[in-house]
Order: sequence, then structure tokens, then C-alpha cells
Amino acid sequence: MEKAITRFAPSPTGYIHIGNVRSAIYPYLLARQSNGSLILRIEDTDRARYVEGATELIENTLEWLGLNWDEGPIVEGPHSPYFQSERQKIYHDWANKLIKSGRAYADPTPPEKIAEYREQCNQAKIPFLYRNFRPTDVPEWQPGIPLRFKTEPKNYSWHDEVMGDMHAGPEVLDDIILIKKDGYPTYNFAHIVDDAEMGVTHVMRGVEYLSSTPNYLAIYEALGLKRPKLVSLPHILASQGNKKLGKRDGAKSVTEYRDDGILPEAMLNYLACLGWNDGTEQEIYTKDELIQNFSLERIQTSGARYDETKLIWLNGQWIRKIFDEQGVENLYPRTQNFWPQSAENYPDDYKIKVLSIIYDRLKTLSDLRNMTSYFFEDPTIDLDLLTKNKFLKKFSESELETLLKQTITKLTNTKAWDADNVQNSLNELLVETDKKPAELFGLIRIAISFAPFSPALNLTMEVLGRETTLARLNTVARSI
Ligand code: GLU
Repeated sequence: MEKAITRFAPSPTGYIHIGNVRSAIYPYLLARQSNGSLILRIEDTDRARYVEGATELIENTLEWLGLNWDEGPIVEGPHSPYFQSERQKIYHDWANKLIKSGRAYADPTPPEKIAEYREQCNQAKIPFLYRNFRPTDVPEWQPGIPLRFKTEPKNYSWHDEVMGDMHAGPEVLDDIILIKKDGYPTYNFAHIVDDAEMGVTHVMRGVEYLSSTPNYLAIYEALGLKRPKLVSLPHILASQGNKKLGKRDGAKSVTEYRDDGILPEAMLNYLACLGWNDGTEQEIYTKDELIQNFSLERIQTSGARYDETKLIWLNGQWIRKIFDEQGVENLYPRTQNFWPQSAENYPDDYKIKVLSIIYDRLKTLSDLRNMTSYFFEDPTIDLDLLTKNKFLKKFSESELETLLKQTITKLTNTKAWDADNVQNSLNELLVETDKKPAELFGLIRIAISFAPFSPALNLTMEVLGRETTLARLNTVARSI
């Protein structure tokens, strides 16, 4: 397999949302699969949109997802620098080649004049093409004057690895700006120069760049550059409607999901499968499996709908997978920031026990906050939960009190306090009281947790310990 040199080329214009980050995943997978390399390039030439701290956020996001890059900021590499704002000289050198060959010109036309041309075309109901308004008097290129490409209108055909064979006529070719008046290059020019300089073999980016491709092809040609393979990635659509997922539709940043207790494995798995599948029913993929199975041919052409519920479901699967395959000692360190406040002073081994009995109910790690508080502090007693419970409401308060007292006696006499012994005692109690499990166990469960859900009763009681269990049962027996 040909070594793929791919790149992720984000603009540091704000937070990095999940729609952006998928554009990093596919280049990463292709690079790893082919033993090639991934370049991280920061496209920061739009100084007006530049946001302080956005680059760090991009780096942190990639690191969190385990998408390491081989060249780029921090790691550096043979094509340093990797910030476009620091590559001015390179762009200017390439621009000068185009000036020399007569394929670029300095354009002194003021913006108001350009607006007039546009308006004329609007009035005449003809498409506005700047090449029909080229200035006759062209000054020498110098700072403060934009540089434009001098296009040669013709047909272009090309192959997009996802979208297939494409064709475009001369009507889409225009004199696009290469270098702006502030001296920074446009995206249109800078990415071509950088991809060529950096030896990029596959340009993988959002499908929104497809319509500009003929203009890029014209520049490759004018510079005598070999075209890289072009790979247009389908849009990620918002959960409703036909719109591309964007910040305005509440697309959260990747780090927000991290803070909400989504695991990076789940996020990577989910995003990789948003617009790609390997043709099987498999839903859970490790990073290595994704690397192995990824293929450009199976990237879909139509937009992929973002579905947060699916992401959360997948996260629950990943929590179980890590527990089952790597053990609680590997899951536990990831839970650090997600315990309720009251767990703060509890030792790790206690929290590990709690995690071991509740992990299979977690969808996100932050569920720990709501689902485990009764392991760390006495629950607030809400007698309505008992008396209005569908299995318990037929009992009078004194019947409930008697049942609780019988339970207390039984559990006081239970030998060693472990899950098996507790279960035996509970089973005996069922026979002795002649109650159904939903009644007796329901009562005990509510009395010790007052939570809508708890893990298996004997396990919960084992972790809570005899003393706490009895104390809580006593308190409730007294309160009824
Ligand atoms: N800087 C462009 C963006 O963030 C990158 C497009 C590309 O990958 O070439 O949309």
C-alpha cells in the first residue's frame, strides 16, 4: 500500500466541535493504516477570525482522542513551521513564480469598484466573474495590493476518491485572490503551496471545498504541480433538518463531551462511523480495528446525521468493554472528576467497589454523580417513596415497620458480611415473612438508598457494610 501523507488543517477560529474533528480522524486512520504520516497544520492566515487559545484546544482535543500527529506544532518536523502565519516567505516565493510566468497580477481595483461590477452583473442577470473585469493597468506587486490568479477558462475533469468522477466547465473558473492586501495568503492559495511543500498525497477535507476544486486544479497546473488525491468528506448533518452541523445548532466542543464523561474511545468510535462503515454490522471499534478496516471507498457520499443518543449508548458500551477487558483498575482512574462531592474523603478501594457494582448501568461517567451518592452519605428520607411504591402501598405503616424490624434482626445475625451470606439471609427472610421479592427487597432497597435505582441488593449491602445498612434500616423503621 502506498504510504499516505495526510494532513489535518484546522483554522484556529474558535472551539473545535465534533463536525471539525472528524476531518482529523480519517486522515489519521489512512496515515496509520498505510504506515504514512499525519501532518497537523494550523491555518491561521485569517487574522480577523483568529481566536487566542484555539490552537491549544485543537492540540488537546487530538491528544485526548489519541490522534497523534507526526509533523506539526509541538513535535515539529522537516517542513517547519506548521503555522501558516509564519510561512509568509514561502507563499510569496510561490506567488512570484506565478507573476513571472504571467499567471498572477497585482490588482489595485478598490473594493467599491468591484462591488459595482458585481452589481452590474446582478442587474444584467449574468454571473459575476472577475476575469471579465481585469484591470488594464497593472502595477508592480507590492505590499498593500492584493495578488490575483490569472485564470485560463477551460473544462476540468478529476476524480474524487469519495464523490467519483467530476467535471466542471469554464464558467466556474475565475481570477481568485492568492495574497490578500494584508500580505497573508488566502486559504485557496496557501493550502496548495503547503500541501505541495509538505508532500501531502491525500487532501481530505469537507465536501464544501468541492465546488472550488476546478480553481485549485488550475493553480496546480499553473505551478506545474502534480495533483494530490482529493477526498471530499460528507457533511455531518444536525440532528434535525438538512443543515450541516454547526456551532449554531448547538454542536458541542469535543472537550465539553470529555467533561460530561464521554470516553475518548467512544468518541473516536462514534465519529469514525459517522459517514463511514466497513459493510458489516459491527458497531464497536477500537482504534486499531478502525485503522485496520478503514477504507476511502467506504466513505459515504451523502451527509451523515449526528445522533447524540447513539454516542451516549456507545459510551455505555465502552465503559463495560473497558471494565470487562481491562479490569476496574483501568476504568477507575478515568472516573476521578465524576464522583459526587460527598465521595471526596472516601478511599480509592471503596470507590472501586462502588464502581465495580454500578459500572454496567453507566452511560456516561458523570452518571456516577447522581447514581452513587447514597454510598457516601445517608440518603434523604422520603417516606412517600415507600408508602406510594406500587408493591408496598398495600401494606400499612406498622406492617412495613415490622418487616423492617425482622430484617434488622436477620441481618444482625448474619455471619460474615459478604454478598453470599447477605443473599442467604435475604432468601431466608423471604420465606419467613412470606413476602414476594419485589415487596421485601423493594422495601429494603428503598430504605437503604432512597434512590430510583441501585445495583443488586446484596452487592449494594455488601459495599455499604453491615453497620451502615443496619443504621439506615433503623432510621427508617423509627421514622415510619
Ligand atoms: N482550514 C480549513 C478549515 O478549517 C481546512 C480545509 C482543509 O482541510 O484544507 O476549514
